[in-house]
This record gives sequence, structure tokens and C-alpha cells, in this order.
Amino acid sequence: MLCPPEELLQKNQALSNTWQRYQSAPSFESFVELAVSINSFTEFLIDKGITALHHASHQLEQVTLALFNKDVAHPLPQAALDDLNERVLALGRMASTHATAAAGLVERRHDPQQSASHDIRVGQTWLIGHDQTVWADLQAQLGYFGMCAEFIAWDQPLPDSTDIAPLLLLDMSKLPEAEWSARIQSLRQRFSMGQLIGLEVRSDFDQLQQALRSGCDSCLLEGTPPHAIIEHIMELNERHEQEAYRVLIVEDSKTASHLIRRTLEENQIVSEIVNDPRQVLNALRQFNPDLILMDMYMPNCTGVEAARIIRQHSEFLSTPIVYLSGETNVALQVDAMRLGGDHFLTKPFNPVFLNAIVKSKIERYRALRRTMYHDSLTGLLNHSSGKHTLDMLLSSVSHEGGFLSVVMMDIDHFKQVNDTYGHPVGDQVIRSLSWLLKQRLRKQDIICRYGGEEFLVGLPHTDAEQAYAVMDRIRQDFAQIRHPHGDTHFLATASGGIATYPLYPNGDALIKAADEALYRAKHGGRNRIHTDED
Ligand code: GH3
Ligand code: MG
Ligand code: MG
Ligand code: MG
Repeated sequence: MLCPPEELLQKNQALSNTWQRYQSAPSFESFVELAVSINSFTEFLIDKGITALHHASHQLEQVTLALFNKDVAHPLPQAALDDLNERVLALGRMASTHATAAAGLVERRHDPQQSASHDIRVGQTWLIGHDQTVWADLQAQLGYFGMCAEFIAWDQPLPDSTDIAPLLLLDMSKLPEAEWSARIQSLRQRFSMGQLIGLEVRSDFDQLQQALRSGCDSCLLEGTPPHAIIEHIMELNERHEQEAYRVLIVEDSKTASHLIRRTLEENQIVSEIVNDPRQVLNALRQFNPDLILMDMYMPNCTGVEAARIIRQHSEFLSTPIVYLSGETNVALQVDAMRLGGDHFLTKPFNPVFLNAIVKSKIERYRALRRTMYHDSLTGLLNHSSGKHTLDMLLSSVSHEGGFLSVVMMDIDHFKQVNDTYGHPVGDQVIRSLSWLLKQRLRKQDIICRYGGEEFLVGLPHTDAEQAYAVMDRIRQDFAQIRHPHGDTHFLATASGGIATYPLYPNGDALIKAADEALYRAKHGGRNRIHTDED
């Protein structure tokens, strides 16, 4: 998500180096290298959220790709060389300005999900506007989700901050239009890794274009209610959670496979190579890839045969397979597709295209898997994958020794919520508890939607007392969240029960004991957390 300034400079230097190499030895090959390097830098900027530089890098990428054609002779015509040179230099200047601005401000934005403790400490959030009273409700609501938004008036200077990637919420409603661009641009320059969200933006085309061009990452239109603003912020936070993409390369040629691996590496894609197709099943099980790049021609086994063998195993039925082939034999390609191939790339492949295909196939595959293992309303683990994950976590905790607390949490009198306000409003209450849990718990904790309005939480290395402290704070804050309904709002509460390993030997016993504690919490009057000892 965030990157130290040195890493940015290094990446930019790598791009400059490939440009130098192209200039001293212009050829199609060195131009391919340049294109890969620019593509890699652009993707890096997206990954790290360096919006300010991304625009320029993306433009450079587009110009390069337009020249990416075997008919174009090398060296390129002088005008094209000058244009590229100017763009590479400009990007370099922007990168070093950005790095200088970020240098010294080394404290990372705190990500509660990366933390070992459950303390709430999230990144700096500023709400810049004209009138604090307008935003009092949003500020209070954000507070319940663990985000403290400090209000600053537009005419006040921003205080110093050590956070290089703050979240800035900008109330545009009373800012004279003439001032818009300059204000946003200067914030964008100062916080090139920050998130800038425009609030109360008019929905007309010109105004949105102006806000986005000046550097807003996104805009929320006039009248967007606080809960929708919070939802937007929660979604931004979630997008940061991405594991590196994994690709298995099945290719008999050592040279070709290493070339592919290098291309993927440039784009932060992790890969593993299998030179002997007979090893493919082992490699699949051990490496668990998101995608297979399959050579078409290998000794003793064609790519199609290998794919057919892979598809006999139900666990790999949906793993995408992209073929690499030296041929443009249409009949063979049709055959390969029929047997469950997803795409064909002909060698010598265009590395930028390879990267784009691999990424888009993996994104689709991951989205599919998410729907299998996650609940659609909340995005949390669903019932069966939650239980499965708990068993896995339990077995690793029992090896290491230590505690694991299991919590069952259930919204109180939820039938009444549905009956009074309607099912869709009830859904929103469920989502707000799920946001709160996601916001407050660590990456290593399990959060699962166990049933309708019932959540299962697993807290590794957390004893009953610690689990109580964390969950009771969540309970208290949930009770403060104002759920909108028409022009008014209502409150909801939840109860919880805790049971802790090693007192109970397995997942089922833990869940049962936590459920019994929850039952006692309900009977004790609701809006409370009980442990198995209460
Ligand atoms: P208690 O305090 O004892 O938990 O009372 P309760 O009313 O919450 O009781 P119960 O757990 O039996 O009721 C759960 C209700 O949740 C019943 C069901 O209609 C509703 N529900 C289940 N899934 C969903 C859902 O996805 N959305 C909405 N809106 N309601 C749901
Ligand atoms: Mg081969
Ligand atoms: Mg209930
Ligand atoms: Mg229930």
C-alpha cells in the first residue's frame, strides 16, 4: 500500500536505465524492455496509491504502446525520441519531488489489520470544510468505527503530520469554483500518496471532471448521507488487502520460462517454474497458483494433454490456463480452448500484453473464489469457510501453544428491527456490525457471518480476558452507531459469548461453549458480552 521513498526512486531509476539502454542500442528488443519497465512502473504506482505520478506514467505507457509494433523501425524517428525523452525526464522529476516531500516522514500509516495488538490507531483523517457543525454527525459516526476525523477550516493551514498517506475529506460545497483546482492540486502535491475524497460535489459533468482532474481520487455527490460516506471509506480500506498474484509456468525451455518469470516479477507477480510437465500436479498442490501459463509443445506431453490431466482433479477445475504457443494453428487453438483453456498467447509474446492478460484472468478467478467462500452481503467468510478457517487456525495454535478465543456475536431483537424498519434497513445494520468488526480486528483474526445476524469471531493468541476487552469495546461502539431511517435514526445493540482454547479441545466444542455464553448474555438482559465463566 505505502512505499518508502527509496523504493520509488529505485523503480524510477530502473525505468531511466532501460531508456538509456534503448537510446544507446535502439532495437525492437530494447524497446520491449523499455515498454515492460514503463508498464511495471505504472502498475507499481497504482499498487502504492501514488496517484499524482500515476497519471504521467500512464500517459508515457500509452505513448510507448502506440509505438509497440514490429512495423515501426528502430531507432524511432527523432520527434518520437524527443517526446519520450521529455516524458521520461518529467516523470523522473516528479518522482524525486515526491520522494523529497515524503522523506523524513517515515512513520507508516498504521493499519490495524497488520498490528499484533487490538489497539485502535488508524491513519490521520482530516475533514476540511467551512462549518464543522454540518459534519458533526459524520465525525461522531466515524469515531464509532475507530476513525477520528479532525476538522480543519478551509482558511486554516493544515497542521504538520507524520502520516504521508492521510485520508482527506474535502467539503466542496461553499468553495468558490475559481479556487477549486488550485486548492485540490496543492493538497494533491503535498500528499501524493494520500486519499482525497471530494464531498458535496455537484453532479454536473464539468464539476466532476474538474475535481477528478485536479487530483481527487473520488467524489461523493451533494446530499450523500454519512452512512454512505462511511461505506465508501470502508471500501477504500478493504481494497488495500491484496495478496500477490501467483502464476505457475509450465514450460520445457529453461530460457523461455526464466524470461516469463522475469516479466512477471517486474509486475510483482510471484511465479514458480515446472520444466517437466509430469511435475505439474505436485507443483499445483504445493504452490496453489491463481493461474497456469502452459507451453503448448513439450517433449512427451502437449500442453493440451497436461491441461486435460489437470482438469481431472476437481480442485483445479476452475484454475485459469493460458497457453503459450509458437504457432498460429487455429485448429489446435480451438482444441485447446475446448479442453478448458482460457486464452492463447503466441510467442514471442508481448510482455505488456502477457501481464495484462494474466492480471485480468486472475482478478476474475479471485472474484469467483470470493463468491464461493465469502458472504455476499458483508464480504466476510461464510458459514462453512469460517468454520474451516477456525479449524485450521486451531491446529496451528495448538502446535505453537497459546490461546485462541472464539466469540459468537448476535444482534439483539433483530426481528423487531426488520419488522419496524424493513428488511433492507436490517441488512444495513448487519453490514455496519461487519464493518466495525473488520475495522477493529486484526488481519490474523477470523470474522465470519455465521448466520443471518450472527457472527463468529476467532482471535488467535488472545486469552478470555483480552477477548472480552476487545469485544466489549466493539459492543459499546456498535450501540452508539446511528442507523438512518428516513429523516431519523435508531440504535441497535448486540450480545456476545466467548469461549477460549485450550479449555475446549476443538472448533465444535468452542463454538458450542461460546453459544452457551451468548445465550446467558441474552438472558442476562442483552447488550453485553459473557465469557464461558460468567
Ligand atoms: P435475540 O435478541 O434473541 O437475538 O432476538 P432476535 O429478534 O434477533 O432473534 P433471532 O435471532 O431469532 O432473529 C433473527 C432474525 O434475523 C430472523 C430473520 O428474519 C432475520 N434475518 C436473518 N437473516 C437476515 C438477513 O440477511 N437480513 C435481514 N434483514 N434479516 C435477516
Ligand atoms: Mg516447448
Ligand atoms: Mg438476534
Ligand atoms: Mg440470531
